[in-house]
Amino acid sequence: MRGIRFDALQKVLFVGAHSDDIEIGCGGTVLKLVEENPGIEILWAVFSAEGGRRQEALRSAEAFLAGAKNPQVVVENFRSSYFPYQGEQIKDCFETLKPFRPDVVFTHYREDRHQDHRVLSDLAWNTFRSHVILEYEIPKYDGDFGQPNFFVPLSEARCRRKAELVMEHFPSQAGKQWFTTDLFMATPRIRGMECDSPTRLAEAFYSRKLSLA
Ligand SMILES: [Zn+2]
Repeated sequence: MRGIRFDALQKVLFVGAHSDDIEIGCGGTVLKLVEENPGIEILWAVFSAEGGRRQEALRSAEAFLAGAKNPQVVVENFRSSYFPYQGEQIKDCFETLKPFRPDVVFTHYREDRHQDHRVLSDLAWNTFRSHVILEYEIPKYDGDFGQPNFFVPLSEARCRRKAELVMEHFPSQAGKQWFTTDLFMATPRIRGMECDSPTRLAEAFYSRKLSLA
């Protein structure tokens, strides 16, 4: 299966509602991008990281982006679970990301059952009108997994590194039944099977529009 070349990307924007979303949804892809394209410019925006979750977000971003050239990390403090009711302020904040002019925007899945995730997915499409947008998936109790159509094959070492970094940097989530290494390895195994990954592992995304240039 042929795809977009990693080394052709110059600017990438990652958007996440909560402090661990980008890492869970596309942490392996982040590690691959940084290692295989050291000149890449990255803007990383987290919209809600209340209390101790702010430090978790900052330290985790630093770990995932180690080796990247001057990555920009923005951590906002919008109230978690209330994004639909803070839409005006979140949209204003989203607009400040626009001048970055990314080649690719990674955001939440449009049909994600978490209301905060859906707000950011909608704002990505509403704000970036001529960009490649890839929507990542977050496993959750609500059971909203679908059929992604865009895949990034990942080595086992990279998948394990992602899972280890997530477990290490988000101790506030450690008591949750879903927050386990085996879940973070199981999802890439299923997606790897679906894209015939040579490593058997992959992260998956939803792509709604792509141009053949
Ligand atoms: Zn989230």
